[in-house]
Amino acid sequence: MISKRRRLLSDASLDAGCLSGLPNGILTHVANYLDAPSRLFFAAALATHQNTTASDERNTAIVGNEWSTLDFGDIEEHLAIKLSDGDISAVLTCIDAVNRLKTLKLTNCINIIGVGLEPLRGSTIIEQIDLSLVEKYQSPWLSPKPPISCELVLPILDSIIEREGCSLRHVQFPSVWSERGERVQFEQFIGRYNEMISRGGIINCAKCNTRLPEYVSWIDNSGIDRIQNYTCYECLKYYCEFCTDDNDRCMLRYCSLCERKLCLGCQNYEECIGCGIYTCVGCTDFTDCSGSGCDADICEDCIASGEYSEKCWKCERYFCHENCVLSNRCDSCKKNCCDDCEEEYEYDWPYCTDCGDRFCDDCNEKKGTDAIQICDGCDTSCCGDCRVSICKEEESNEKCGGCFQLAGPLLLKENKKVQKENTEVKAENKTLKDQIGGLKDYNNFLKEQLRWAQVKEQSRK
Ligand SMILES: [Zn+2]
Ligand SMILES: [Zn+2]
Ligand SMILES: [Zn+2]
Ligand SMILES: [Zn+2]
Ligand SMILES: [Zn+2]
Ligand SMILES: [Zn+2]
Ligand SMILES: [Zn+2]
Ligand SMILES: [Zn+2]
Repeated sequence: MISKRRRLLSDASLDAGCLSGLPNGILTHVANYLDAPSRLFFAAALATHQNTTASDERNTAIVGNEWSTLDFGDIEEHLAIKLSDGDISAVLTCIDAVNRLKTLKLTNCINIIGVGLEPLRGSTIIEQIDLSLVEKYQSPWLSPKPPISCELVLPILDSIIEREGCSLRHVQFPSVWSERGERVQFEQFIGRYNEMISRGGIINCAKCNTRLPEYVSWIDNSGIDRIQNYTCYECLKYYCEFCTDDNDRCMLRYCSLCERKLCLGCQNYEECIGCGIYTCVGCTDFTDCSGSGCDADICEDCIASGEYSEKCWKCERYFCHENCVLSNRCDSCKKNCCDDCEEEYEYDWPYCTDCGDRFCDDCNEKKGTDAIQICDGCDTSCCGDCRVSICKEEESNEKCGGCFQLAGPLLLKENKKVQKENTEVKAENKTLKDQIGGLKDYNNFLKEQLRWAQVKEQSRK
């Protein structure tokens, strides 16, 4: 049913021209089959095609008069992306936004330049305008950069904040305006905006009821991100900077991923025990540490990098490094095993008491003579290398037969290696001797030549 309705919406934008002549009753009836945002576009399209001011009566019949909030995130993303300034303007006109709309969120309208906001000019009703163009839990740093224009939007916002009885209390600006940097126009507007809120009268903290200082910096003009302070993006309540909840967490928190400030009543936050990032639950996936009694959370990035957590190879649960380091780690294949699995599956990975290496059963089996083994004679648990060292070091009267038996193949191997090295040295010696012999022969040959030359010389004289 939904998909059928949605199809109607896109068709409505294209073909409303031929419908606009139909009686209001029929159009209203058709509109009943559409969901709320689609009705809006249907009415807007009819108004556009009629080329006259749409009848208010018919508009109200089609769109209803419940439009105190308009979030373009409520329509499908692929449609919102296509919306032009003309579409936005038609919709705002259609719902009589200047007199009704309290909250406007231009979610996903990434292709507008901003003139479409013209119908809001001078509104004393509007309370919140979100120009970030992104949905909840999304980074506002869009790529490619959206064309929304500071020069075109600010005069409309000015027309709102200069009105007596202005209701505006929260604006989320497009990141791209801050990024373009030293825009005098933007900075000057922020100055006027800060003044407007301060001028509005006494503002008290929603939690402690203390009056907020008269000239606080609602939006920090020197900051990079120009996020509104002391105000929750969701409930628009004001909070002082000192109020905390029962767990000593600041009431109003800033999420560094979606770059919004929301109060603890509106948004759950989590902090990563590894990298310390503090974000909305929703902006990143947090994994709970499975260590018993540990309530640490690990962020997506830290899980991926493995830097601050480790995974049990058997149950695949994650454990934080901060409180719950796993002690059962194979030094060969690097896999970890949690205490629970060690107990449940009776993993008792061998351990070399000399060098401290521990191998999982699989790795130890593959290691053959290098494996960690227990000596029946002296009850020591050692890896091959350590066993050989012990056998070499021990005084002859303390030698353990068991250790020698275990180290035997390795000692033999070492012996063979030494023998092989000896043979190689001998062969090298022989080659050198041969070379010296050859040089001697050559020397004799030269001497002979010289003697012959002298004899010839003398006989010629
Ligand atoms: Zn307070
Ligand atoms: Zn809130
Ligand atoms: Zn967030
Ligand atoms: Zn992290
Ligand atoms: Zn486990
Ligand atoms: Zn933990
Ligand atoms: Zn292993
Ligand atoms: Zn060892």
